[in-house]
Amino acid sequence: MNYNNEFNDAAKQLVLKGKLIDSKGWVPATSGNFSIRLTDNTIAITVSGKHKGNLVTDDIMLINANAESLDGKKPSAETLLHTSIYQRFSQARAVLHPHSLNSVVLSRIYNDKIVLKDYELLKAFSHLTSHENELVIPIFNNDQNILRLAELIDLYFTQHTCYAYIIAGHGLYTWGETLDIAYRQLEALDFLFACELQLSALKR
Ligand SMILES: [Zn+2]
Repeated sequence: MNYNNEFNDAAKQLVLKGKLIDSKGWVPATSGNFSIRLTDNTIAITVSGKHKGNLVTDDIMLINANAESLDGKKPSAETLLHTSIYQRFSQARAVLHPHSLNSVVLSRIYNDKIVLKDYELLKAFSHLTSHENELVIPIFNNDQNILRLAELIDLYFTQHTCYAYIIAGHGLYTWGETLDIAYRQLEALDFLFACELQLSALKR
């Protein structure tokens, strides 16, 4: 398939972010997936089963807004979670999904949500202008039925403002207007989750 320049550029960006995110240890053993929405609403996304630290541009594929492959490559089972974010949030142009340690451990301690407040780093989320603002990260139970999980999360989206969520025992999703914004949020969240974990350990 002949990809256009915008896809090729997105593929390069995703390869680079894969190396960076892997260097943090957030995508062990081929886990995780990343995507960028293009201007025609098609989506460049990592293919299934590749290690995110060793991606090449051939490991990025093109899907439509319904998560269907447009180039014959095989998308990850979790592709539907990317497309549901894009369908619900018109501003979202990039989605990052790592299986980061801190998000997984935190989901073992908290049940349905984590409320982050009084952290300066909350300002990594551009809608939060003060450490006094609150960021709610919902936690959903893991489900191998991705369609059912996507519907549950979408129902939450219809009722709440949301910038990131955790799937319990699994990992984190966050999204933004660019790949760099999504990455900034991911880095901030990992730091904030680490703070919450250390505080929780001190209280025991
Ligand atoms: Zn996953």
